[in-house]
Amino acid sequence: MSKVRILTDRVANQIAAGEVIERPAAVVKELVENSLDAGATRIEVEFRHGGRSLMRIEDNGHGMSRDDALLALERHATSKISEADDLNRLASFGFRGEALPSIASVSRFTLQTREAGDDAGTEILVNGGKFVHVRDCGRPVGTRIEVAQLFNSVPARRKFLKTDQTEAAHIIAGVRLYALAFPQVAFTLIEDGRIIFRSPECIGLVERVAEIFGKQLAEGLVPIEVAEGGMKLSGLIGRPGTGRSTRHEMITFINQRPVDSRALNYALIESYHESLPKGRYPLAFVFFEIDPAAVDVNVHPAKREVRFRSETAVRGFIIRSVLARLRELVESPEARGEKTGNPVVSPPVPPVFPVLSSGFQSAGERRVELNVPRPAFASPVSVEIRNPKPVIRSVQSGWRWLGLAHGNYALFETSSGLVMLDRRAAHERIWFERLQDQFRAGTVPSQRLLLPVPLELDPIASALLLARLGFLNGHGFEIVEFGRNFFRIESVPAWMEPADAEPFVRELLGALRDGRLQDRDVDIAREQLARLAAAKAVRLGESAGESEMQALVTQLFACRVPLTSPGGHPTHIELSHGELTRRFQK
Ligand code: ADP
Ligand code: MG
Repeated sequence: MSKVRILTDRVANQIAAGEVIERPAAVVKELVENSLDAGATRIEVEFRHGGRSLMRIEDNGHGMSRDDALLALERHATSKISEADDLNRLASFGFRGEALPSIASVSRFTLQTREAGDDAGTEILVNGGKFVHVRDCGRPVGTRIEVAQLFNSVPARRKFLKTDQTEAAHIIAGVRLYALAFPQVAFTLIEDGRIIFRSPECIGLVERVAEIFGKQLAEGLVPIEVAEGGMKLSGLIGRPGTGRSTRHEMITFINQRPVDSRALNYALIESYHESLPKGRYPLAFVFFEIDPAAVDVNVHPAKREVRFRSETAVRGFIIRSVLARLRELVESPEARGEKTGNPVVSPPVPPVFPVLSSGFQSAGERRVELNVPRPAFASPVSVEIRNPKPVIRSVQSGWRWLGLAHGNYALFETSSGLVMLDRRAAHERIWFERLQDQFRAGTVPSQRLLLPVPLELDPIASALLLARLGFLNGHGFEIVEFGRNFFRIESVPAWMEPADAEPFVRELLGALRDGRLQDRDVDIAREQLARLAAAKAVRLGESAGESEMQALVTQLFACRVPLTSPGGHPTHIELSHGELTRRFQK
């Protein structure tokens, strides 16, 4: 018998599924794209358990005849191209004819569809790539696909799935992109029976953004529209000064296709170089249009990365267009959120992460105060450590303070040389251990805000916060949910400035979403919260006196780990006599 054989279609499909269908969100993406390609004006997506138990995508597109439906489940069956050359003129999402057979090979797949003019609809059931039945069914014109028990035929793949919550977040993020790209299509997204968003057809982009990402965010945006030399940029961009700590709200489409384009991202970030503090990302919901022949979307089956034939031209165009718009805004009242003829109801959207008054603010940074009366509470420096360790190591008792350098470095003369102490690092260490002690003892002093801070989140952030409400509320916060994606911060830990409450919560959620924070374990979660909190809690005065510096040293050396900041940087550096002598080449 020959050793070489041709794979059965079922195996070939399962292998292809490994490429195209890496997670539930990929199934949703393929099916939503098919619905859009079919001209749907209404798409409903429902999923359960992060998509692993069920995904249902239903549309009112043109549907399929029984023959077409059967054919669509064959490998490489597509109605969208017939020759490789068609790829250059591609206007639809799909073209490989791989999605349906791949998905059907790794799930319990039910397709119901009816074409206009047909008396009855068709139902086809395929289980793990094995054909089960085809029969008539009643349904309106359009297509409904149900994908249950994803990866039932390839158990090994199930192991690679993350938690339901993570998979759900990917599905939601994905559907959001298509909803943004097609405001003329009505979208409904339902998770575990709960509506995540429902957005009617024919609304404008701003309304779409407001419905999907929240009104607060939408208010920070202004329209942009520029066309030049066969390229067009349109959509919404953030006002100067309105940025985010992550790129999640930097969303780009090329020819209405959601893409992750490095070229576009860099161009946007570069355009905001002077309009945002360092480390902040612009807000952008922008559509870039260009001759399809000048883009290559066929880089990867998942079609996330795209390449431009002429990247420099694209970059130049984007930067010029955005810069011009930003300049225009700075010179007009629009930039400050003032709508002519309309009294300003909400204050201008503040930068999300106000800079702490650390004495290190650069000229471009602005401290933002919300209108919340600030209750008096002790400044960190004068707060006494409740339980100072009784034995203070003798090493630093003989330190003689010489002065402050650059506002931050305290210089001391010691019996063995010179010490330079990083005030900020020292304070962070002290705060970090103090907070850890409070967390462990379950006694985090909390302050009630006179005016609760409203917090509107997008569905993903909202899910992340909901899952952690118990934890945060046990650690000095009091955050309550009062509507879908709406929260209210009613109390914050005593160490926190009320104006920092919202930025802090948003930063925490951003870090969780990026995977910079892992909080499966309560001790780790506490440590991470303490680390974030310590960095925020420190407020250094402009000047510092001798007694304050001596107290700082005493408090620092009462810590369990006085040598490093919570972030692992040294709190102080010592130059010994020997070192000094060597340096002066005596
Ligand atoms: P592709 O989208 O790459 O063509 P798919 O496997 O995703 O491949 O789909 C195969 C074919 O099935 C499509 O070309 C289209 O003709 C048909 N089809 C898939 N989904 C739908 C739908 N929701 N409505 C109408 N036709 C559909
Ligand atoms: Mg397709």
